[in-house]
Amino acid sequence: MTLPLSFSIYTLGCKLNQLESEALAGAFADSGFRVLSRPEEAQGQDADITAVNTCTVTGKAEQKARRVIRKLLRDCPSSCVLVTGCYAELDREELERLALESGALSKTGERRLFIIPGRWKKILQTLPAFLASALPGNRQELPSLIQFWMDKHEGNGETQDEPDWPNPQASFFRSRAFIKIQDGCDKHCSFCRVRLARGRSVSLEAEEALARLRDLEARGFGEAVLTGVNIGLYRAVAGKTELNMAGLLRFLLEGTAGIALRLSSLEPDEMTEDLFEILGSTRIRSHFHISVQSGSAAVLKRMGRNYGPETVEAAAARLRELKDDPFLACDIITGFPGEGERDFEETVELCRRIGFAWIHAFPYSPRPGTAAASMKPLVSEREAGKRVAVLMELAGQGRAAYVQRWLGRSVEAVCESGEDPCLFHAVSENYLRLLCRSAPGEERPLPGSAFTCRISTVENSGEADAVGEILC
Ligand code: SF4
Repeated sequence: MTLPLSFSIYTLGCKLNQLESEALAGAFADSGFRVLSRPEEAQGQDADITAVNTCTVTGKAEQKARRVIRKLLRDCPSSCVLVTGCYAELDREELERLALESGALSKTGERRLFIIPGRWKKILQTLPAFLASALPGNRQELPSLIQFWMDKHEGNGETQDEPDWPNPQASFFRSRAFIKIQDGCDKHCSFCRVRLARGRSVSLEAEEALARLRDLEARGFGEAVLTGVNIGLYRAVAGKTELNMAGLLRFLLEGTAGIALRLSSLEPDEMTEDLFEILGSTRIRSHFHISVQSGSAAVLKRMGRNYGPETVEAAAARLRELKDDPFLACDIITGFPGEGERDFEETVELCRRIGFAWIHAFPYSPRPGTAAASMKPLVSEREAGKRVAVLMELAGQGRAAYVQRWLGRSVEAVCESGEDPCLFHAVSENYLRLLCRSAPGEERPLPGSAFTCRISTVENSGEADAVGEILC
């Protein structure tokens, strides 16, 4: 008996990429491939096909992708490597060069590294079925079949701009549920090339979003994370009503019984009163990630952002009026061209005043094709790194203070999968990573389902913030 062909995927970047990777793994599983559930495990196991879903948001993310690809080519000599995602969309030639330099050839002398642009997502979903039907049980044929499949689609000049709305049914890498409701972006932030990779903003039909949410609720999921590149740009029509993000949230909550919603990330200028009103619902998780980027009005202007620090502060204050001590997090870029010491101090002051429970800080890196790539004066990498360190310190303090404030309180949490039958990880409604233990003889909650627990003690393991005692 021959073992089924195996597939693994290594994902870089955002939650959207993770969801799209999950969907691709699902397509391979549906076509009879054995999906290796952990990419780290996969790298050691030399899967027959390994995909790398890349990210282009920073120079570091691209560097990491190149490192992963080289490592796969070196350590997995039998694997065919598919490189896709945003970086593959924008820098196909560069990655092709890497393929040549790395000698990406199979034992039979065929090419085994394939660069599949990010916008081929929908078409890429058809590759597993094609391979399953064409493969005569001989894995040596894989490289030539993949090449044939690529030539066919390229030769047809098929448009790859059609949006893809993955809806993975099985979960390979995580147990929480995600719904992609939006893709692309219509804004022109001067540092960003994600919009170049993913194109204009498109939205999932509201009825389809509702159907997916109802399905998750029926399957016992306690919450769903709504994700996209910029979900504040969501626009769709339900019946005769035009829906924006606030409208979609109302529509989803009205059409379901109790499943909670978590939002991936919001831009400050898109947080209108209309949206705030619905964010106050008890079924919207008390966790908001605000895409702040800087606390300096001058830097924000050069970044092409349509708000100032006062908008961020007002949004944080409004969220605190609506929710009981919500988990507020933000993204900050340090070392944007022209960011002087005073500008950075303004960012630190803004973060301090708001008291974020987490700050995701990363150094600016010029992205080819963006307006900021030619802006001056540059801030040295070293200085940008030092500024990241200052913010990370603040982030650590913010998280510790937030956990302390919640000790002894009861929260709803969603169970994440894990090997141990009694000990498992969970994410609380307010985004604390919890380590929970079910009582001897008691079954632990099902992955993805909600339960109530009391936050008992601080847990500083790096993987969890606190211990959660299960109440019901
Ligand atoms: S809002 Fe700006 S940073 Fe965010 S995806 Fe759109 S262009 Fe990029």
